[in-house]
Amino acid sequence: MINMSILKSLGLSINPKLHVTVLTGAGISIESGVPIFRGKGSMWEIPEARRLAMRASPPWNNKETWEFYEWRRKLVSQCKPNAAHYTLVEMENYFENFCLITQNVDGLHIKAGSKRVLELHGNMWKGRCMKCGKIIDLPETPLKTLPPCCECGYPLRPHVVQFGEPIDNKILIEALKASKEAELFLVIGTSGVVSPASQMPILALENGAKVIEINPNPTVLTPYMSLSIRGKAAETLPKLWKSFFTD
Ligand code: NAD
Ligand code: ZN
Repeated sequence: MINMSILKSLGLSINPKLHVTVLTGAGISIESGVPIFRGKGSMWEIPEARRLAMRASPPWNNKETWEFYEWRRKLVSQCKPNAAHYTLVEMENYFENFCLITQNVDGLHIKAGSKRVLELHGNMWKGRCMKCGKIIDLPETPLKTLPPCCECGYPLRPHVVQFGEPIDNKILIEALKASKEAELFLVIGTSGVVSPASQMPILALENGAKVIEINPNPTVLTPYMSLSIRGKAAETLPKLWKSFFTD
């Protein structure tokens, strides 16, 4: 139950100039119906997902990879942003220095209306050309041809960071900068086991930020948090945001 000024208890006060950075993970989209990758309720409990994922292979610009992505894209196309995604849009509109970093590839933050989103792991609604480097929007599912092709004629790969691949340097540098500059840092729905995202809240702490975690379960980050709220994102974040304005 959040009924007091959490910010005040952390020594901060609400004002548009407060530097706020948010890191989200798969947990923020669970209440929208997007399955997670790990544990109970994960995508891997679905035999079709496992079968299609096993056929996907580097260099990822093949039909088999796109068949797996089309399965995921169809599923996510039926999911809508939830109250947590929308609260982050309100926060972006209020704070002058606001940065949203996400590990999610589902595009739900952008669908909700967030403008400044650093998508560390890419976006499943985009394809990337491995020949000319162009990133192409692919909002429709099903796609007409698999694999879809670039304007230059070369087959596209999903614009998603695969396991073991590096994060785009420019995005990573921006995310680390926003983490260092934050006065308030929110960690929502991430298990904190995927690096380098998991290091961002720690970097924020080391640079003086107050860090609040929202997660129904304790995580490896929990012991380091200024405050850890046990709750679901779509229920908890709107309440937390409201609490910022109470005395
Ligand atoms: P994760 O699967 O490792 O952890 C999810 C976290 O969400 C857990 O700590 C869990 O306790 C928490 N959680 C469960 N229900 C919640 C709720 N209602 N509200 C808030 N939190 C809740 O996720 P991760 O840390 O983001 O790492 C997974 C990796 O897999 C990422 O790299 C991401 O790119 C990818 N992934 C993305 C999506 C997506 O785009 N939605 C989905 C699955 C996996
Ligand atoms: Zn091309």
